[in-house]
Amino acid sequence: SAKENKRAFFEFFNPTMNEKAEATMLLEKQVRVALDEDQFEIYYQPIIAAESGEICRAEALVRWRHPDNGLLLPAEFIAPLERCRIIHEFGLEIIRKVGEFSKELSDIKKLSGDFRISINMSPAQFLEPHFTEKFNACQKEVQFDWRKIEVEVTEKSFISNAKHADKVMLELQSYGVSFALDDFGLGYASLTHLTTLPIGLVKIDRAFIASMNNNPKNRDIVLAIIEATQRLGCAVAAEGVESEEQKLFLERSGCDLLQGFLIAKPMPQSQFLDFVDDKHSTVVSIKNAK
Ligand code: C2E
Ligand code: MG
Ligand code: MG
Ligand code: MG
Repeated sequence: SAKENKRAFFEFFNPTMNEKAEATMLLEKQVRVALDEDQFEIYYQPIIAAESGEICRAEALVRWRHPDNGLLLPAEFIAPLERCRIIHEFGLEIIRKVGEFSKELSDIKKLSGDFRISINMSPAQFLEPHFTEKFNACQKEVQFDWRKIEVEVTEKSFISNAKHADKVMLELQSYGVSFALDDFGLGYASLTHLTTLPIGLVKIDRAFIASMNNNPKNRDIVLAIIEATQRLGCAVAAEGVESEEQKLFLERSGCDLLQGFLIAKPMPQSQFLDFVDDKHSTVVSIKNAK
């Protein structure tokens, strides 16, 4: 029953429960139903160029429209899902959905030529032995343009199995996929990855952007990250831009891309289309005024 389902779902997160295996099975079952009934929805958050205001990316952020529990955010289900085998099928469904939308967007002349949709990939998905083949099969099925897709990975994907991650990245890169390093933090070891792996974009974790408010010294950290990543040949994006003050500082510091609630919150597909329409007229009028 719906009530039982709801209980099972939340018990998964209850640390006192010792039947974790059973909870995993229940989650698997719910995700299977969710896939069959198309309960996963993708929201898109625009990422703009600091200089021109043009939309350069849309980050695909999944939501689960759960029949009993309402609209669930990834924080409520991705981590447990990573422990289930069905994460792979879930991930492919996200790829297919993004691919479909990407095709739809390719007809929109208003988007810049290098516009891409970025897809988040957990280490579990990325390190699955047949990941590239399955990604490839999705492309064959949907016929999206590889060059319009960016994959966001975190360092965890290459720390646990650098050799395999490297192979997967090079293969996907050869198709035209680009890579962003998500949630970039302070670990200086990570700078090495920027020189050895095909990473084109570094996304500064929003904790760093938020920390600039409390302590001006943290601005130096952000500046140092911008300078270092650009010197290593990567573009840099700031996540979690919430204030005009942050935006101004980042623009002056030469940060390439901006993402955050100040620009726009993640939104359903149809709203994103409206956003592109509105934004384009603004960008054009600014350019004409110059
Ligand atoms: P992320 O990849 O770092 O995505 C950015 C998160 O920051 C999103 O949360 C977004 O809504 C939020 N955000 C953006 N701008 C702001 C801001 O100005 N202020 C604040 N406070 N937050 C902001 P969301 O959508 O809840 O996603 C959380 C995480 O879930 C993502 O973090 C990503 O790691 C993961 N995720 C989302 N979709 C997928 C997916 O399809 N597959 C996988 N494997 N993971 C996903
Ligand atoms: Mg991300
Ligand atoms: Mg991030
Ligand atoms: Mg994050």
